[in-house]
Amino acid sequence: MNSYSSLASWSDALTTRAVSAVEAVDYFSDRITKINPQLNAYITTDIDRARSAAADIDRQRVAGESLSNIAGIPFGVKDVIDTSGIRATGAAAILDNFEPTFDSTVIARLKNAGALVIGKHNCDAFGHGSSNEHSMYGAVKNPWDVSRVPGGSSGGSGAAVAADLCSFAIAEDTGGSVRAPASFCGVSGLKVSYGRNSRYGSMPMASSLDSIGPIAQTAEDIAIILQHIAGHDPLDATSAIAALPDYRTEIQKSVAGLKIGVPEEYFSAHLQPQIRAVVENALHTFEELGASLVPISLPHTSYAIATYYILVPCEDSSNLARLDGIRYGVRQKAADLYHTYTASRTQGFPDEVKRRIMLGTFALSYGYYDAYYLKAQRVRTLIRRDFDEAFNKVDVIMGPSAPGIAFKLGANASDPLQMYLEDAYVVPASLAGICALSVPCGFVDGMPVGLQIMGPRLKEELPLRFGHHYQLATSWHTTHPAL
Ligand code: GLN
Repeated sequence: MNSYSSLASWSDALTTRAVSAVEAVDYFSDRITKINPQLNAYITTDIDRARSAAADIDRQRVAGESLSNIAGIPFGVKDVIDTSGIRATGAAAILDNFEPTFDSTVIARLKNAGALVIGKHNCDAFGHGSSNEHSMYGAVKNPWDVSRVPGGSSGGSGAAVAADLCSFAIAEDTGGSVRAPASFCGVSGLKVSYGRNSRYGSMPMASSLDSIGPIAQTAEDIAIILQHIAGHDPLDATSAIAALPDYRTEIQKSVAGLKIGVPEEYFSAHLQPQIRAVVENALHTFEELGASLVPISLPHTSYAIATYYILVPCEDSSNLARLDGIRYGVRQKAADLYHTYTASRTQGFPDEVKRRIMLGTFALSYGYYDAYYLKAQRVRTLIRRDFDEAFNKVDVIMGPSAPGIAFKLGANASDPLQMYLEDAYVVPASLAGICALSVPCGFVDGMPVGLQIMGPRLKEELPLRFGHHYQLATSWHTTHPAL
C-alpha cells in the first residue's frame, strides 16, 4: 500500500485481498516504531493483540465469510476512551494503572465490524487543553514541524493520522478537540452533534457537551466510520433516538443550489489575515461548485469563550471528583484519608486540570452559582438560538477552524487565557450541540489551515457532503508532511 492511503483505499485492498489485515497491522506498526519517537502520539500500543485479531480476519476472509468494509483496518483511540484490557490513562498520572474491563460502545461497534485497535493516543489530560501540552506523558509534536503543537486536546490522534501511524482515529470533542488538531495537522475531523454517538465508556469531561468522533484522511473516510459508530445506545441516556442516513450515499449528492452561511463574527480582526485569505479561497471553491454564499450574523459569538470556560470547568470539576485515589487509579498513601485524597490528586493531575477544578468549584459555590453558572447557561441558550435562526436560512455555516496556524510549543504555556482564545471558533458549535467538520483548505507558512463546516443538529451528512465535494475538487488533503 502507498503511504497515506485513505481508509477507503485500505478497505478496497483488503476486500480484494491485495493486502492482508496482518500486513496492514505490520505497516502501521513499522511506521509507529520509526516515526512515533519524534511525535509522541501514542501513550500505549497494542500491536500483538491487533495482529492476532488481524489473523482471524484474514482466515475469515479466505474462508469466504462476509466481512464489513472496515474489517482488518487498524485504528487508534484517544486515551480518554475505554478499550477493554488496554490501559486508559486519560493522559493523567492518576490513571496510569487503570485498565478498563470493557469497551466503550463506539469501540465495541468498530471491533464488532472487524476494525483493529492498535493503540491509545496521547492527548491533553482528560481533554483539557488546546495544544496537547497538558499531557502527563509529554507533549505531542506536530508532524509538519516538530517545534510546533499538534493542537488539542486530541493532538496524538491528529498527529497519528497526519503521520500515517493509523488508518483513522477515534477521539473526543467537547470544545474543539477533534477539529483543532485536525486543522493544525492537516487532516479531516468531525465533531458529531450532541447525542449522535454514544459516549458510554468515555471519560466524562463536560457531560453536556462531550461528543465522540473520527479523525481521518478524508470526509469520505469519516462517512464510512460514522456509519458504524453512530446511533442510539441504551447504555447512554443522552444518545439520540434518530434514524441514520446512508452517509456514503448522501455525501455523493451535489452541493449545487445549497446555501452556505458566512458569519461576519468568524472573520473579525481576531482572525489572522493570511488565514482569512485561505478560508475565503475555499469559500470561492464552493461557489464554483454551484453553492451560494449568504452573509449571516451569529451575534452572541463573542460571548462563547467566556460562557464555555465557565460551564466546562463546572462540569469538569464535578466529573473529576470521582478520581480520588480510593476507588481506582493510583493512590498516594498518606497518614489519613484527607491527605490520601490530596496527595493522590496533587500528584495525579497536571496544572490545567487543577485550574479547572478550582475554577469550577468556585463558580458552583454558594453565592456565586447565580452570577456565573446560571448566567452562562442563559447565554448558552442565546448562542444556540443564533444557530437555530441561521439554519432557517442556510444549509451549512463555514468559517475558519482556528484563528491561526499551529503555534510553537510553549508559546502559550504561561498564559492560560491566550490558550483558551485559540478555541474562539470551535466552542460555539459545542455549546449549541450541532455538528462541525474541519477539512484542510490550504497552508500558511508551510502549516495546514482548517476550514470549519458546521451543520444543523444530527445532520452530519451535510458538512460531510460539502467536505467530500471540496476534497474531490482540491488536493490539500493529499499533501502530507515529509517525515
Ligand atoms: N480546548 C478545549 C478545552 O480545553 C478542548 C476541550 C475538548 O474538546 N476536549 O476545554
